[in-house]
Amino acid sequence: MVEKMNKNTKNLKKKPGNSVRGFIFFLILFLFGYAMFNSIFGGNVKTEDVALSDVVARANDENGNIKKITVSGNDLLITLKDKEAPTQHSRKDSSGTLYEQGLKNNCEGLSNGELKKCQEKYPTIEYEEPVDYSGIIFNIITLGVPILIIILFFSYMMRQAQSMNKENMGFGKAKAKLYGPDKKKVTFKDVAGNEAAKQDLEEIVDFLKNPKKYEVLGAKIPRGVLLAGDPGTGKTLMARAVAGEANVPFFSISGSEFAEMFVGVGASRVRDLFSKAKKNAPSIIFIDEIDAVAHKRDARGGAGREDEQTLNQILVEMDGFDNESGVIVMAATNRVDMLDKALLRPGRFDRHVDVALPERKDRLAILKVHFKNKPLDEDVDLDSLAAKTAGSSGADLANIANEAAITAAREGHKTISANDVTEAFERVAIGPKRQSKVMNDHEKKLTAYHEAGHAIVGHVLPDSDPVHKVTIIPRGHTGGVTWFLPPEDRSYKNIYELKDILARAMGGRIAEKIIFGKDDVTTGASSDLKNVASLAKEMIIEEGMGNETRNLVFPSEATGYYTISTGKPYSEKTAELIDKEIKALSDEAAKRAEIVLKANKDVLDRLANALLEKETLEEEELPALLKGTTLPEGAKLH
Ligand code: ADP
Ligand code: MG
Ligand code: ZN
Repeated sequence: MVEKMNKNTKNLKKKPGNSVRGFIFFLILFLFGYAMFNSIFGGNVKTEDVALSDVVARANDENGNIKKITVSGNDLLITLKDKEAPTQHSRKDSSGTLYEQGLKNNCEGLSNGELKKCQEKYPTIEYEEPVDYSGIIFNIITLGVPILIIILFFSYMMRQAQSMNKENMGFGKAKAKLYGPDKKKVTFKDVAGNEAAKQDLEEIVDFLKNPKKYEVLGAKIPRGVLLAGDPGTGKTLMARAVAGEANVPFFSISGSEFAEMFVGVGASRVRDLFSKAKKNAPSIIFIDEIDAVAHKRDARGGAGREDEQTLNQILVEMDGFDNESGVIVMAATNRVDMLDKALLRPGRFDRHVDVALPERKDRLAILKVHFKNKPLDEDVDLDSLAAKTAGSSGADLANIANEAAITAAREGHKTISANDVTEAFERVAIGPKRQSKVMNDHEKKLTAYHEAGHAIVGHVLPDSDPVHKVTIIPRGHTGGVTWFLPPEDRSYKNIYELKDILARAMGGRIAEKIIFGKDDVTTGASSDLKNVASLAKEMIIEEGMGNETRNLVFPSEATGYYTISTGKPYSEKTAELIDKEIKALSDEAAKRAEIVLKANKDVLDRLANALLEKETLEEEELPALLKGTTLPEGAKLH
């Protein structure tokens, strides 16, 4: 988003381009004029050619009728006695010696009176610097080009400085960008879904547009609005939409920009930012990624003093607002839990707008926004794409739309096909296909059984999502992928569902073990195991799902207080208990996967062979291949 916003300032930077063009135009004009001048007044006088020998003979003859000979390089211009300007022309020959010897100044060394007499008889000889056109061009290149570069450089620097805003030359001045009403506007129409958040923000727009309406009733206009939500959910986009809808100046700065500053600069930038906004009121100040400066002052064992000063200055400025200031401060963060509580107090960021990950219908709306100007084949089904992308943010979806267009272009398609969209989705979700990586037969077989293992465990266990697609085509860092498709978005998952997710994640490695014997440990399962470890940890620490620690949660390391002895927010004993519970969950998952796969070994073989043959199995092909599976008693949860 930041890049996108910067594009708006491009208009400013275009001007150096114009001045360059203007400069080049004048340069050409100047050269042309110079050439004209020279051809009229300079060397190229209309003359008649005469032989060099003739000139030399006449120069030494009293009756040679020559008044003056002008030597200009290899050219001799001869002015006759009865003429003012040269009318004859001769050219020095290649040796030049004949001319050197033959042509001499007959009047040289004579005194005044005699000189005059002599000059009446013999020609005077003058030397003139030749006009050398190739020399001029050479000079233009050797001198002109560096000068041109220097001029361009300076004009660029000047433009840069101007576009940075005069105020920005100083260190302590805010680098805030102003998006006035004339810049490309974002409105709520550009923000799909997120109706609840939009409604909250529409109220803010109304405050800015009709402050009187609220003042009359004695309502306090909110000072600070905090947009909180996962990365890519459109917080920055929404803040810009508020500015666009309210039609007021929008001063935006990112918290991370404060981080680049010298000591003491952050606070003065804040001061400057607020004073600018007040001058332009009604206006909006937007502090993006505010967590970068406003993290808890105690959480990291004393955040940098610099950040603390910046944060304090923000608080001071916000407290200093009176009710009529007409400035609304918006801020966005991915981490509300990390924010300093002082920021959230009344009179500061007292309005919270939660920007949630989009639900299925919102995802469809967002996809429609981003596919709007892209030509789609008729068989592209955005609705099913919306279904597949549970958990994706608006930014992810925008990314899929863009990747689909890129894929189509790369494949030389005129319109975007359903395959292009699928490829884009998988690329964004996992990474690009690795066509170049050739698996040998053993690796391929191992991968086929591994993926078949995931698929079967997921299919058999009662609380797992249905299998959507299985493939052994390598992609990103994985050898293959088994996709499970949640039938709908759910905000909550119960412990049974989570345990089935753990078991099906173990299914890959367990299938390898059953088929290839021993603990033929391969690296193919490492990401599965990482997923198991992090989900199990979350279940124990955050969800209270352990056997012995049921309904107990533990403070996480980022937010809790630390005990001195362990350096963790709990005692040594509790730490051991947590480790034990996590291990119990993953052992149980491995056990259940093993029971399922052993009981369904024939289906495992069938699925793996189908994968080896076809490499990718789509949703339609799977039911037939998975037919006849059974849920063994030992895999059930009691
Ligand atoms: P955040 O600030 O929350 O991290 P951004 O506002 O930067 O997210 O969103 C990044 C991009 O994702 C936007 O520029 C837009 O293209 C897309 N996007 C996110 N949410 C939406 C939405 N609700 N509607 C349309 N596009 C969205
Ligand atoms: Mg953002
Ligand atoms: Zn796996």
